[in-house]
Amino acid sequence: LEPLYSLMIRVRVPGGIATSDQWQRMDELADQYGNGTLKLTTRQAFQLHGVLKRNLKKTIQGFNDVLLDSIAGCGDVNRNVMLNPNPYQSPVHAQVYEISKAISAHLTPRTSGYWELWLNGESKHNSLLSTGGEDEEPIYGKTYLPRKFKIALAIPPHNDTDIFANDLGLIAIEENGELLGFNVAVGGGMGMTFGMADTYPRLGDLIGYIPADQVVDLCEKVVTIQRDWGNRENRKFSRLKYTLDRVGLDTFKQELDLRLGFALEAPRPYEFRSSGDAFGWTTSPDGQSHLTLFVEGGRVADRPGYALKTALREIARFHTGDFRLTGNQNLIIANVAPEHRLSVQALLQEHGIVLDANDVHSALRRGALACVALNTCSLAFAEAERYLPQLMDRLEIIIREQGLGNEGILLRMTGCPNGCARPYLGEIGLVGRSVGRYNLYLGAAFNGERMNKLYKEMLDEDGIVAELTPLLAAYAQNRQPQERFGDFVIRQGYVKATTHGLDFHQ
Ligand code: SF4
Repeated sequence: LEPLYSLMIRVRVPGGIATSDQWQRMDELADQYGNGTLKLTTRQAFQLHGVLKRNLKKTIQGFNDVLLDSIAGCGDVNRNVMLNPNPYQSPVHAQVYEISKAISAHLTPRTSGYWELWLNGESKHNSLLSTGGEDEEPIYGKTYLPRKFKIALAIPPHNDTDIFANDLGLIAIEENGELLGFNVAVGGGMGMTFGMADTYPRLGDLIGYIPADQVVDLCEKVVTIQRDWGNRENRKFSRLKYTLDRVGLDTFKQELDLRLGFALEAPRPYEFRSSGDAFGWTTSPDGQSHLTLFVEGGRVADRPGYALKTALREIARFHTGDFRLTGNQNLIIANVAPEHRLSVQALLQEHGIVLDANDVHSALRRGALACVALNTCSLAFAEAERYLPQLMDRLEIIIREQGLGNEGILLRMTGCPNGCARPYLGEIGLVGRSVGRYNLYLGAAFNGERMNKLYKEMLDEDGIVAELTPLLAAYAQNRQPQERFGDFVIRQGYVKATTHGLDFHQ
């Protein structure tokens, strides 16, 4: 008898935008074949958990019917391309969204293996299906990449995709509401291994600016350099960040210029002011409304008094707009028609969902991220998503006592150092060491432009609370105007600033 294997399926959603049909299908599949919940990931994808091996094919066929797929959801290829999800934060969003889709399509593996294995050689994605004969991978070649590759785009001033945590980050540069091009950052990546100081998280380096019409080609060229130069002997060192630190940034830039056939221009001015989501209703000039919901841990589920999954299913039955997964594990019900706004609101309230998280939750809870960790991730040493709300209950008491309930402080928790919830970009980072024990990192920048540094090791819950209580009290009393917690702990000497991946462990 074969063991009863159950698996996770990651369904990619370029730019994080799903239609109502797609939402309803994912909801059905979660009930039919998964564990009855949907996970919204930190890379704007869906995860289905608990899918039995015998149901894999039916599940994949189910989301293929609504033009979703899991190709490149994992593996040594380019993953889900991320983008700011809210179209109305910037007039250039529509242009950048089209570019994000073009990048995603261009870097999607051409192999017909996925379609043959899961879809009997047929697909609703005709444009992605191999034309027959021997597969050709013009970008990935026969060997694919040494390791996964991640791309994110962001439109300043919002860095809610944490572009510097990606192998390739693209910062939109606009002028008078028109997209001009992108600043380019290379070499970001969050993972490391405990006990191996030569592994480290790293933020991308800004290397130049490229006009918008050449950015897809740029992505291809960066990917092919990594394909050719990346470490294929040891997967611990096979991300682009290690390639860059091995060959040097200048050598990499020279090669990129050579492959492009021209030199990148100097980076253009930009400013990131935030990396979180803004909750509640917004209305755009075209009269459409958009509601950003707080989804704790990114888990769409029904619980007593809180039937989020049911409410969203009901809304998807009539909603003519779309659903936008944010890089912070939240959800925007976007493009709500004026005549549907009251129905959306009423359905959410009937099912116990808070419309505006600002009214109820502390800013600390609203901005927190947690990876899945135990019991669904086989790499986890400790809890994260299931445990963080419990820890948060204690931390919220402290920050409210200190008058910090509305101060945005980024807290990120993961069950291992691989960094899926980007914990090294948390002003408070908690990384699982063993069951119930976490390393505490401090000092990241609120806008995603500086990583944190190790402060204490192997803390249990009481230890975390004991360490953070005086720090938060000191912050409440001694901070300068507008000073962020991550900046404060550096100014006060609790930790040194991390300036680059190579000094993360120092
Ligand atoms: Fe990623 Fe580690 Fe969390 Fe698993 S436990 S989801 S590998 S960070």
